Amino acid sequence: MVGGGDIAARKAVTLLAAGAALTVVAPELCTRLEQYVAAGRITHRAARFTRSDVNGHWLVINASGDARVSNQVFEAANEAGIFCNSVDDKARCSYVSPAIIDRSPVVVAVASGGAAPLLARKIRAELETILPSRLGQLATLADEWRDRAKRRIKDLLGRRRFWEQVFEGSVSDDVLAGRMQSARRNIANLLEHSARPRNPQGEAWLVGAGPGDPGLLTMRALQLMQAADVVVHDRLVSDGVLALARRDAEMISVGKTPGCKSATQQEINELLVKLVRDGKRVCRLKGGDPFIFGRGGEEVEALANAGLRYQIVPGITAAAGCAAYAGIPLTHRDVAQSVVLLTAHGKDSVDRLDWPSLARDKQTLALYMAVRRFPDIRSKLIEYGRSPDTPIAIIENGTSDDQRVIHGYLDDLTGLADQHGIVAPALLIVGEVAEMGVGRGWFGSRPVKIGNETRTPVAAIQ
Ligand code: SAH
Repeated sequence: MVGGGDIAARKAVTLLAAGAALTVVAPELCTRLEQYVAAGRITHRAARFTRSDVNGHWLVINASGDARVSNQVFEAANEAGIFCNSVDDKARCSYVSPAIIDRSPVVVAVASGGAAPLLARKIRAELETILPSRLGQLATLADEWRDRAKRRIKDLLGRRRFWEQVFEGSVSDDVLAGRMQSARRNIANLLEHSARPRNPQGEAWLVGAGPGDPGLLTMRALQLMQAADVVVHDRLVSDGVLALARRDAEMISVGKTPGCKSATQQEINELLVKLVRDGKRVCRLKGGDPFIFGRGGEEVEALANAGLRYQIVPGITAAAGCAAYAGIPLTHRDVAQSVVLLTAHGKDSVDRLDWPSLARDKQTLALYMAVRRFPDIRSKLIEYGRSPDTPIAIIENGTSDDQRVIHGYLDDLTGLADQHGIVAPALLIVGEVAEMGVGRGWFGSRPVKIGNETRTPVAAIQ
């Protein structure tokens, strides 16, 4: 360490706590550092810095507070291939020291690459409050039992289940409450029980991932994504959501890209059944809600017919997510007493819809998978009596950073979609409520199109 002032002293405390052998190079020392020298905890070289001082060290901390010295120290360290941190001087750092939450042997580090140390400290403060103080003892206990568990439970999956039970169940509760004796008894029992050979039981979880924004996941969805051995997901599930899945879970995409060959529903059903039979915990992650145009019903049927265990977790469906993020109420006391979720995917599905009923007013239609059928939808609704002046809104990539919202009237539906190059995934809302979103958009900064006029959401609110 170069420098002997208060900042150097603060750094010294952390370094000594980590067991570092510390040499301080400085003509003079502050009182605290002098005490460390007197106690034999640090070595002091009472001199100005010279380049050879860095030799033989692993890390150099530059706390001299003098720009010229700082330069010399950084250059000398770089030349010798030794990592150097200059306090509050990002340009002269070859490493940054993170803010840490110390529950040794568990250590959580928060770093901002030197960009915003204060933000890192704020995050640390938040993590401090949620990480139990006895977390370190839990890790130490696990360490004591590690070898025994390895010897007693031979298979990897079985061992993982054992540790999950340790960290989630009564053993963990005991440790965190300071009941170490009881924790030791419980972990012994658990190991005894886990060591008996049995087939690990697989299970499938049909989980709704919401429309895109990871903030719209349910807590249960997140828990199951974190517990899964395998995640089987659609193309619609956003990258932001996928990034929250367990790091070492196997990720299988069965994505359906329009116009491309992808797994058939039958193949997906068979895949799920096979994985669960192999003892895997499978998170079947679907865009929106699994039971709304998600073919979740067919997957559940396949699992149930095979006698396998499953759970189903609802998600925020596109209509709910897109409407909320576009400021459109799906129902409204005065103008819409009901909302119909429907899909108009293929030509035959358009022909089979009950147009006389859909064309009635005082109801909201939320159309999924409809982009290619906009011309049919427009002409059928008008043909069966819905006014050409009925407000509509098209929401593309709703709730994501790329969200676009286009407002207009039923008569212009096809023209607007063409003009703005609307592509899937997009949701069409038809009904008086669509107009209520004008000036009520609050999300994102991309402009909202109102017919041919462009307004930013914020300007629209004003
Ligand atoms: N199970 C899903 C729907 C799957 S069907 C759910 O409950 O939302 C796929 C269709 O959903 C897309 O063609 C589109 O119409 C709609 N959709 C899904 N996510 C969307 C999003 N982020 N923005 C707009 N529409 C979306």
